[in-house]
Amino acid sequence: MNNIVFISCAESATQSQWLVEIQKQLTNETIYLPEQISDSQAKQIDIAIVANPDPKDLAKFPNLVWIQSLWAGVEKLVTEITDKPIKLVRLEDPQLAITMAESVLAWTLYLQRNMAEYAQQQANKNWRQLPSISSADLKVSVLGAGALGIAALKTLKKLDYQVNCWSRTPKQLDGIKNYLGVEGLTSMLGETDILINLLPLTADTYHLLDENLLAKLPKGAKLINFSRGAVIDTKALLKLLDLGHIAHAVLDVFEQEPLAPMDAIWSNPNITVLPHISAPTNKHTAAKVIAKNITNYRENNIMPKFVDIKQGY
Ligand code: NAP
Repeated sequence: MNNIVFISCAESATQSQWLVEIQKQLTNETIYLPEQISDSQAKQIDIAIVANPDPKDLAKFPNLVWIQSLWAGVEKLVTEITDKPIKLVRLEDPQLAITMAESVLAWTLYLQRNMAEYAQQQANKNWRQLPSISSADLKVSVLGAGALGIAALKTLKKLDYQVNCWSRTPKQLDGIKNYLGVEGLTSMLGETDILINLLPLTADTYHLLDENLLAKLPKGAKLINFSRGAVIDTKALLKLLDLGHIAHAVLDVFEQEPLAPMDAIWSNPNITVLPHISAPTNKHTAAKVIAKNITNYRENNIMPKFVDIKQGY
């Protein structure tokens, strides 16, 4: 029997649900909370499963070999373990990619079919038909072509949208144009009706979409941010929305979460606010993925694919 620590700042009911799901999948491991482990036992622990861990709790385990995150986005953890010889594994769950692809499709349709405008028109008892555009005529660009980006791109392609993507390394994707570098990004933005952000937050992507780049979008373009708030310079976005250069933004993520009650974003008619729900982790499927990673490590000494700390994702 091996021991694993589960470190999370989630409320206790959520922690219990996670413990039940993970323990069900890992019958040869005992999963402990940090407070259940003595200092001498803590030295024996080589794997931590984490969800927003308090760094102080992580520091109690000096001999960790790797950390398995329950989230796909690991920007905070990356900065916390930079100087340590610990590997960081993020969640790559096919179910998460399906969920994100569904959200991308749902909110692309919301923007394509002018649903935000019709909701406002209804509030004002305004009967007005807006121009509609078919998917084959709509250029949708996705920033990021990783686990979530590719699933989203393929889903959009199936429905006949004109699909582009931007990534750091080249991609060969059937019928999907791939752009690289700042020049590629500038060109892609100029060819975009709806821009979808699925980039991880790293030193390179922090405020990547600034006023200069957002202004490269054609007038009337729309935007969806489903990865991290700080990839977009919020002030620049608000300015371009106010100018009418960007027609509408669907934001699921914000530079500060939760969005403060007094934040003007709540009442901006050109912004749809979502409370970070585009792709919630499915505890059951995530526990299976994590168990497979841990079992493969215990039985075959094979580490799952880990985060490149220098790249930040
Ligand atoms: P991933 O597999 O690591 O993919 C990241 C993509 O971004 C890759 O295609 C990568 O390019 C590209 N990229 C990274 N840095 C870049 C740069 N500087 N320039 C150009 N391209 C760059 O990540 P994922 O699993 O798709 O997840 C993406 C993000 O979604 C996560 O980091 C997280 O923040 C967010 N997320 C949000 C929710 C939610 O509910 N809102 C849920 C889950 C995840 P290469 O392919 O060339 O490496």
